[in-house]
Amino acid sequence: MTGPAPILHALLPPLRYAARDAFAHVHTLKGFDALVAGAAQRALRAGLPAAVAQQLSECVKGFDAMADPARVQALRALLGVLQPLLELPPELAALATAAPPVEPKPVARVKKPPRQRSIPATQAPPPVAAVPTGPLSTPLSPTFRIHPKLAALLAKKGLSQVAHVLFLMPRAYEDRRQLRTLAQLVPGERGSALATVRRVEEGFIGRGRRTLKVVFGDATGSIAAPFFNAAPWMKARFALGKSFIISGELKATPYGREMAHPEAEPADDVGSGSIHFERVVPLYPGFERGEQRGIRELAHRVVERFAGAVDDPLPDALRAKLGLPALEAALRHIHFPEGEVSLPALADWRTPAHRRLAFDELFFLQLGLALRRHDVKVEPGIAFRVDDAMLNEALAKLPWPLTPAQARALGEIAADMREAEPMNRLLQGDVGSGKTAVALVAALLALANGYQAAVMAPTEILAEQHARTMQQLLIRAGVEVGLVTGSLSAKAKREARARLAMGRVGLAVGTHALLEDDVQFAKLGLVVIDEQHRFGVMQRALLQQKGARPDVLVMTATPIPRTLAMAAYGDLDLSVIDALPPGRTPIVTRVFGERARPQAWSAVSRELAAGRQAYVIYPLVDESEKLDLKSAVEGAAQVQQAFPDRRVGLLHGRMKAAEKDAVMRAFRDHQLDILVATTVVEVGVDVPNATVMVIEGAERFGLSQLHQLRGRVGRGAHASQCLLLAGGPRSAVGRERLAVMESSSDGFVIAEKDLELRGPGELLGTRQSGLPELAVANLARDQDLLAVARREALAVVDADPRLARPEHAGMRRALVERWAGKLALARIG
Ligand code: ADP
Ligand code: MG
Repeated sequence: MTGPAPILHALLPPLRYAARDAFAHVHTLKGFDALVAGAAQRALRAGLPAAVAQQLSECVKGFDAMADPARVQALRALLGVLQPLLELPPELAALATAAPPVEPKPVARVKKPPRQRSIPATQAPPPVAAVPTGPLSTPLSPTFRIHPKLAALLAKKGLSQVAHVLFLMPRAYEDRRQLRTLAQLVPGERGSALATVRRVEEGFIGRGRRTLKVVFGDATGSIAAPFFNAAPWMKARFALGKSFIISGELKATPYGREMAHPEAEPADDVGSGSIHFERVVPLYPGFERGEQRGIRELAHRVVERFAGAVDDPLPDALRAKLGLPALEAALRHIHFPEGEVSLPALADWRTPAHRRLAFDELFFLQLGLALRRHDVKVEPGIAFRVDDAMLNEALAKLPWPLTPAQARALGEIAADMREAEPMNRLLQGDVGSGKTAVALVAALLALANGYQAAVMAPTEILAEQHARTMQQLLIRAGVEVGLVTGSLSAKAKREARARLAMGRVGLAVGTHALLEDDVQFAKLGLVVIDEQHRFGVMQRALLQQKGARPDVLVMTATPIPRTLAMAAYGDLDLSVIDALPPGRTPIVTRVFGERARPQAWSAVSRELAAGRQAYVIYPLVDESEKLDLKSAVEGAAQVQQAFPDRRVGLLHGRMKAAEKDAVMRAFRDHQLDILVATTVVEVGVDVPNATVMVIEGAERFGLSQLHQLRGRVGRGAHASQCLLLAGGPRSAVGRERLAVMESSSDGFVIAEKDLELRGPGELLGTRQSGLPELAVANLARDQDLLAVARREALAVVDADPRLARPEHAGMRRALVERWAGKLALARIG
């Protein structure tokens, strides 16, 4: 034990989460006062002065009942009390309010074990103001005079500060260095011209839809610009005789030259040396064409006045080394490109200026993660003894040798366990790749060192499954496996708890019931979290708290390309199991059109006749749970109709956890033949007798999600198939996408493809990924930049973990003022 600091450390993840985005999540904390009080109690036992322990609890007393502003104050006060007790990460230190001195004697500084390279806390820079005060946070109004119409638009989009406009990336650029005449426009090509409204014709095409045909003309001729489905106000916009810059693709039609739906911007002041003409102009996202002028003018004034006032957060040396332009130059070029301009590079956001901003985004994301990682590692945990003899003994308890991929992952885990630094590792691998087996060996190593291990799974049925497998594997090892779930009887619970607390149970497997206050371990050394994305930060912290800085292994069956994992989970070390154990019959996947549905059903019939079971999966039509429910309920009725003699069960997201577990159990025990489900079935329940899965509306799923779903079959000895029903006319992209499913069974290949086609948000599931929205960088495109950003961020944190050196002052300020909310604190857990 090393004093109270390690215990208090467990409070940091929830604090970080709550503080993210200027305390945007503060309302989500539940039971935080109990968490703090518990930690304070334990810290007291570990030597924290009683007065300080009391101060900690006092800060957040009655937290649940507080309104948000009071909560923010409470958290800042709490940070103030914590600050002298442990090294706070800079973004949290910045939020701390000074704590009043404790009477009668001053707060004792907890002595930290000396550690190379870490800077004594006394040298930590003073906290900067909690509310960013740099030029970037200058309010747009009244700094700039803004037309009320534009002001309303800005307000609607939440653009209120200088930074919001300065870093608003133009979605596209238009080359107005040379406007063409209408005669010069070439059919089949995009182009821009200055022209005047000659005529406007309005028409209606049924169901109240109207069309608008605007005829533009100049000295060289005229073209028609049809707008289909035009809004009523559009007619007024194209007043006769008014000049516009129009831009779009010209087509030669039997009726003459047409530019359908052109972008049209009023051009009242052409040639007056304005920022709108005779240059490449930016088009900003989220603004209608007619609104571009206003935002463009504002952007121009903001850039002129503030681009030079923003500190460049990157030290000159680093910038020079990487060959990146200065921030000011980059900002100027991005809004109003001048000098040497490459239009294709601008269009793809590949100019040096764009790369500079993309680098910053990736760099500060990595810096935040590296700081957090450092923070986790700074307090020593358990250094397990792991030698070859012990490893071999543990491995001998498995019924089969590890696959090479498993052995590699285990090697990495064992190396972590040997170190005094607490392990914080993510183990990734396809469903069925053998992660559980690897985790089990890690648990055996902990047990052999006299520690206990805990495995937490998101559902009861999964916890039961893990407990059963592990018990079977450990039967000869004489290790007692304890199941801790909510549905145990009171008596069974009491017994399980007692055996855990006494250390009789070596391996505890459970749901979040493990987190309850009266679940205590005698000596918890290893925490394994299955399906990591299903748990929040509080839950992980709570489980960790039950031991003294135990090693942590989190597992996920969502294959994530390495780049993405680096970006999203850069504070975790990563191990990958990239091959399946031998002896699996590969799953045959086929894509069907709607008309081939009978074939799909007869494939299901055949399997059912052979005594097997089937899944039928319906997509979430919509984010809304109502529709989810509707599609599944209707689907179940249809399936029952198609298979009148079979037992059909239904599983959907609106059911309570216990109901879901009950249905899942019934299916597992073959009391159901067909399970109709929405995507809730994703998480890893093993039903080896299920050999066929039909996925309805397959084109609506992400590839990775399809892959995960498909992993539910092919778990037993029988050959399995996955039938993808793609209703409706499928686009070429859709077909290409689904074809990948037919040809590949490698989750990583599929995930790469998904990243390319749909972007990171979709792949990780935007809400749970915690991956910040990247404004400029693109994880599929900028893999090289990400690698460099990560390398440089790690180097900075290695050399200067508190960002205290003068050359890092700008970086530290930028982290707090511009990035802390967005990036560093972005991930939940
Ligand atoms: P995961 O947790 O990644 O989904 P599991 O650890 O549950 O995968 O393993 C899937 C199946 O493969 C289990 O039935 C397990 O018994 C089996 N298995 C795991 N490792 C091996 C191995 N090295 N050789 C043979 N079978 C294995
Ligand atoms: Mg698993």
